[in-house]
Amino acid sequence: MTNFRVHPTAEVSDQANIGDGASIWHQAQVRERASIGVGCVIGKGVYVGAGVSIGANCKVQNYSCVYEGNTLEDGVFVGPEVVFTNDRYPRAINPDGTLKAASDWELQGTLVKYGAAVGSRSVILPGLTIGRWALVAAGSVVTKDVPDHAIVAGNPARQRGWACVCARPLSEELVCRECGRRYASTGDGLVPAS
Ligand SMILES: [Zn+2]
Repeated sequence: MTNFRVHPTAEVSDQANIGDGASIWHQAQVRERASIGVGCVIGKGVYVGAGVSIGANCKVQNYSCVYEGNTLEDGVFVGPEVVFTNDRYPRAINPDGTLKAASDWELQGTLVKYGAAVGSRSVILPGLTIGRWALVAAGSVVTKDVPDHAIVAGNPARQRGWACVCARPLSEELVCRECGRRYASTGDGLVPAS
């Protein structure tokens, strides 16, 4: 008995683990040992690599690629055509010209934490952490860690401000003009102010 939806044109490994209520749309591919959380929406043409873990209630939009080694916690938004890479030192061949095998390279993934959002056409380099509720603007190339609630943009992505849980930018006093939530700095990111 399965309680999720897979479009007939999607290719989902029978060794993948799909949570209740998830939807996997046209031509998506979900590889062996991948895990798709409860309620996730996996868009058209998305690639989910072997062993990738995607938490509950994530939205991964059309044609994004989450390659092996990457992890999305719960509630992560990924816009269309985002690429999560996994090889910091890419080469097709070894120095002697022979084709590299899987054992010839070191897989490095990135961790995207709870509630974060990655804008369309961004590229995420390997071995990073994108913090809780962080916001990566469309078209960014993320080369270093992103603090909790930070807004980053550009190539290479640099911090431009702070984002509320509602995704609006915060004032200098770390207050959201939209919803009124207040935040406090931890020195490396923000937390809700009590
Ligand atoms: Zn807000």
